Amino acid sequence: MDSTSFYAHILGLNSPWLVSKVDLNTALGEVRVHVRHASEDALTCPECGLGGPLHDHAPERTWRHLDICQFQTLLVCSVPRVLCPDHGARQVSVAWAEAKSRFTLLFEALAIDLQLHCARRRAAEIMGVSEDSLASIARRAVDRGLARKAKEREEGETLTSSHLTLDEKYWRGRHCATVVGDALRGVVEEMAEGNSTASAQSALKALGKVVLAKVESITMDLHGPFATAARREIGESKIVYDTFHVVKLVNDAMETVRRGEVNYYLSMKDKEGAKILKSARFSILRSPANQRGRSKEAVANVCDWFYQTGEAYKLKELLRIYHELPDAASVRKHLLGWIEEAKKSTLAPMVKVSKTIAKHLVGIVRSIEMRVTNAAAESLNARIQAVRVKARGHRHYEAFRTSVLFHLGGLDLYPRPRGESCPVSA
Ligand SMILES: [Zn+2]
Repeated sequence: MDSTSFYAHILGLNSPWLVSKVDLNTALGEVRVHVRHASEDALTCPECGLGGPLHDHAPERTWRHLDICQFQTLLVCSVPRVLCPDHGARQVSVAWAEAKSRFTLLFEALAIDLQLHCARRRAAEIMGVSEDSLASIARRAVDRGLARKAKEREEGETLTSSHLTLDEKYWRGRHCATVVGDALRGVVEEMAEGNSTASAQSALKALGKVVLAKVESITMDLHGPFATAARREIGESKIVYDTFHVVKLVNDAMETVRRGEVNYYLSMKDKEGAKILKSARFSILRSPANQRGRSKEAVANVCDWFYQTGEAYKLKELLRIYHELPDAASVRKHLLGWIEEAKKSTLAPMVKVSKTIAKHLVGIVRSIEMRVTNAAAESLNARIQAVRVKARGHRHYEAFRTSVLFHLGGLDLYPRPRGESCPVSA
């Protein structure tokens, strides 16, 4: 087998493409594989598929391919241009790369795989390209995946389930993004910059009519603007406030009460009292089942000696168990009872939570009726956080969005050759 046949075979090049010449440069550790079109009298227009004669050749270009035998491998070709009766002179599609890419399909596929599994810097070292090149491959992979998803949605073949989540995610300092997730598949469906009603509406609208029409539930925190957006785009009856966010609300209120009481003890020059209350911060967040030894003792001390925090702790515990109740009717009764208890407490943060819960009662009870699990949504949140850490800070929203959709968008990221056969094979 001569070198041209060897490279044609290893690159998986099929007719009409053939290897015309191989230049090996051992000093540079580089091999340039020249490729040409074997039947230039019968070319095909990339726009309409009509046949036409050769017009001319585009200037010679190179495409980076995977290294072969440890040589940096470049495909070189002056791509012929067809004269189409309808579209004029057009460059024909090449079998080994997507239009406008400087890399072959296999190179891009490996670059995608590596970036999914290791940090971009490491992937760049392995592949011998810049991090910027890999970033542009990731960007194009996300665009490709989103275009395929949009097409599927248009054709009514969406994979998106009928249970969604709507959440806010801080990606840099105070900069926030709205994230629409699929509660069952645990993937990010859409994103928008900011956490306002307008951001949430734009993220929801981007799902398209087919997805919006089949939504059965959208789970969110009790953040006013998101509920307004969901009400407008999906409908009040589909809104669900999940246990995680309700419990977080009462935990935050208890923390406000505890901090206020610490300050009171400090103002009374009771440093010892303030110290005990400060050190109980994490113990009182735990449920009794998870308290052991010192933690148990700290909670007992708070309940016995610190009236306000002790009261807030009891209210937190009383609320927390609502999702363990057997049915929606008992949950509703329990929550109504809790609202009365919280009001009686005269602890301002707890009274505020009771008002919020009263206002969102129907959506909270609905989460019990529907029994939508938020396990996938919670794991999605943790994975978004991991993507944020892995990228070591995004300077622009678009970069954050690309990273999240690349890793967690559930997208078909890989390039595919045009036409029926796969000309570049592993
Ligand atoms: Zn044409």
